[in-house]
Amino acid sequence: MSGRTAGKKVSDMNYKTSYYLMRVLGIVGILVMLIGGLTNQLAVGGIGIICVLGGTLQMNFFYHCPHCKRDLPKRTLPKTCPFCKKPLN
Ligand SMILES: [Zn+2]
Repeated sequence: MSGRTAGKKVSDMNYKTSYYLMRVLGIVGILVMLIGGLTNQLAVGGIGIICVLGGTLQMNFFYHCPHCKRDLPKRTLPKTCPFCKKPLN
């Protein structure tokens, strides 16, 4: 399921979107932090930290099972919920 669908609602936030958002923000944030560190610019490094924190924080709100609403493991994207064993999709 790669590629993005144009015109999709932004409010259509589910655990999968949340997971990829965390991944993207994490990678971008670390890169920005590295750039900030290499160029010695604290403000740039700060933006990177905000990206990483934002990516992690939004998971607390959106990254949970659509069935039982419990938080999913953050390291992997599971195919079935480890708590209620229902398939995630
Ligand atoms: Zn569940």
